[in-house]
Amino acid sequence: MLDRSLPQIDELYKEIILEHYRNPYGRVPVKRTDYQAEGVNPLCGDEVKLGVELEGDKIKDVQVEAHGCSICVASSSMLANILQGKAITEAKKISTFLKDIMQGKVNGREIDIGDLEVLSGVKKFPLRIKCALLPWTTLDEAFVGHDHVEMS
Ligand code: ZN
Repeated sequence: MLDRSLPQIDELYKEIILEHYRNPYGRVPVKRTDYQAEGVNPLCGDEVKLGVELEGDKIKDVQVEAHGCSICVASSSMLANILQGKAITEAKKISTFLKDIMQGKVNGREIDIGDLEVLSGVKKFPLRIKCALLPWTTLDEAFVGHDHVEMS
């Protein structure tokens, strides 16, 4: 079935996005929620709810409830997948890097972002950039409290 909400992007990219959309990562509830946040993208109707469980200073698991278009759900799934086992500082780096890619600030790939790479195909469609970044801006919000801990 064709997802009409998908903009005209590379077929291979589309396939990867739809694969995440159909079988998203992050659907298993975390045992303990150390950080959480919710985000909404009113332009598209996307909603994301995140819960992060830590083990030491590493992210053990991320639980994501994403509702909305395929790009938002796929990006949420990729987030849950790539952040497993990462330190919070690494997670923030990936988040910043992805935003820079979307804003056309970087073209290089100095960080391995796995499937997230395909989301760069969306940057030609300004309205959809918010869909792709919603889980990541929500993640930033979840970690706001962490910054305060680091500073004190
Ligand atoms: Zn959307």
